[in-house]
Amino acid sequence: MPTTNITTIIFLTFRMIERETVDKIFETANILEVASDFVSLKKRGTNYIGCCPFHNEKTPSFYVSPTKNIYKCFGCGKGGNSVNFVMEHEQMSYTEALKYLANKYHIEIKEKEFTPEEQEAQNDRESMLVLNEFAKNTFTRNMTETDEGRAIGYKYFKERGFNEETIKTYELGYSLSERKAFTEFALNSGYKQKYLVSTGLSIQHDDGYIFDRFSNRVMFPIHSLTGKVIGFGGRVLDARTKGVNVKYMNSPQSEIYDKSRSLYGIFQAKSTIVRNDKCFLVEGYTDVLSMHQSGITNVVASNGTALTIEQIRLIRKFTTNITVLYDGDAAGIHAALRGIDMILAEEMNVKVLLLPDGEDPDSFARNHSASELEDFIAKNETDFLLFKTRLLLNDAGNDPVKKSNLIGDIVTSIAVVPDSIKRELYAKECAELMGIDERLLHIEINKRLSKKREQWYDAAQRELQKAQPAQLITDKSMSASNRCREYESELLSILINYGNDVLFTLAKDDEPSVDVTVEQYIEKELTDSDIEFQTPICQRMLKLYTSVCGKGQKPGLTTFTLSTDSEMSKFAVDLLVPKNEVSDDFWKRHNPYIAPEDRDLKEVIDNVIYGYKAVIVQQSLNKLQKTMKELQNSTDSDNELELDKIMKESVVLTKYKNRLNKYLNRVLV
Ligand code: ZN
Repeated sequence: MPTTNITTIIFLTFRMIERETVDKIFETANILEVASDFVSLKKRGTNYIGCCPFHNEKTPSFYVSPTKNIYKCFGCGKGGNSVNFVMEHEQMSYTEALKYLANKYHIEIKEKEFTPEEQEAQNDRESMLVLNEFAKNTFTRNMTETDEGRAIGYKYFKERGFNEETIKTYELGYSLSERKAFTEFALNSGYKQKYLVSTGLSIQHDDGYIFDRFSNRVMFPIHSLTGKVIGFGGRVLDARTKGVNVKYMNSPQSEIYDKSRSLYGIFQAKSTIVRNDKCFLVEGYTDVLSMHQSGITNVVASNGTALTIEQIRLIRKFTTNITVLYDGDAAGIHAALRGIDMILAEEMNVKVLLLPDGEDPDSFARNHSASELEDFIAKNETDFLLFKTRLLLNDAGNDPVKKSNLIGDIVTSIAVVPDSIKRELYAKECAELMGIDERLLHIEINKRLSKKREQWYDAAQRELQKAQPAQLITDKSMSASNRCREYESELLSILINYGNDVLFTLAKDDEPSVDVTVEQYIEKELTDSDIEFQTPICQRMLKLYTSVCGKGQKPGLTTFTLSTDSEMSKFAVDLLVPKNEVSDDFWKRHNPYIAPEDRDLKEVIDNVIYGYKAVIVQQSLNKLQKTMKELQNSTDSDNELELDKIMKESVVLTKYKNRLNKYLNRVLV
């Protein structure tokens, strides 16, 4: 029976790279060789030095120490080992980075066995990805190697002004006009019909007739974060739109493609997003291509759908700064504004860039040089809330009804901002813009906040009631100290992943609200119950975590993996990276805990804390019982007083234990 923890509750299927393989990769990977693939390095003394790939700089401050086998940038502070480097530079998950390095050093990866169901699910996904790769290659070859492709597809991209590099970077292609060209080619090449249908590359009628979904279209492959083709967008060409209603057609939702969780261009953009700490958001495929070609490469598109929370969180993994580009004459700009409240709620700094009338990002980027573009952005991007306030003020004019609606609208936007300091600032600036008393805004904002809290509480209650039987660390065969270690590891992992997140907000009407972070909550829970970690390594990590926080810094992965305490760095690697991997789904892989939208983070934390307390209390009770027995067996009469004291203590602890168990049972059963 393997030890269960939160991670295994969440992952229904999983695979893991075997420990020995991981060790081998860590031992073999040479940071100088790994970093040299991306950075040009010069020898200086025993070290190597170059311009940091993680921040923009002209004088090198990026050091590689081959002897210590680590890298460190003295400009931005990034540092780590080979695995850290690949994760950071390529924006890969831990597992992906390991696989990348294994491939580089020809190390065979041994993975834990799948169950048959897992095997099948995995095989389906793999097969679909392989087929998509085949399709992408076919479409790109069509474009250069067939007369039709050259005359129609290639011509189209050329006329739109896209150069070879852009076409190659985004792997653009062409699907032939013959209705079954691709389907037949794929079948003849040995690909299964089942996967042609499940990827959506082909459409099959009830009578069995099967044909290409994308025939006669230029093709835009949609990549996953790691560059795998998960879907396609296909555009009919102007000359041929007669009788075709939809200009763009996308792959349908499938095992591997979830349009609400993917962003067009994210694979090509991710490193620049990290480097520039900023992401541009546009609407369409060609907007991305034009911006990229003009030199602004940190740009993604929402695949023509309304922006989703998952897409925002995808961006937030790389940066908290997002600039949304709007067409100057967009009729739906008001509707679009509502979507932005969602971005604010995710603690993102949102700016808006309105393009001049008649321009869209595509045309604007094509008609201006990179420096003109950058200049325009720098001068014109506006903080979203101020932009919204100005826009609505303009609309309202002197109409008092419209103006009061406007206040409500702005209040709604400010109230979703999770950070209370930011809320204050916004309230101040917006009140000024609208020419109203700031206090009036605060009263309104607090009303919204308490309403939100009520809803949150109701939702939490409902969640609690329908909670699935979870498997916390209830394995009785596990020794108490091992169970403590499990709980302490879970708490550390939560702290490191979510420590700075606001868990809830305490506020009364008309009083400034107080945000309680995960870290504050856990700390209070532990100190209130007078609990100290028992496992020495966990003690040391918690101490380091608190001391880094105390300095006003945010402890990250490398705080622990780069620790000179080698037990700690090893423990941290095991702890901080998801032990399991379910799929290509980035979110689940990066967060060992379920994202808060799926499950309430507070509930997860409470489960761990109460479970942990229950173990500690039981331990104390066991100790007391042991002492009691010893005292009862001895004949010393002075023991009476001592026994009495212990009895009383036991009663208190037992009551506490029952309370904890009541809570846990409610969750568990
Ligand atoms: Zn740097």
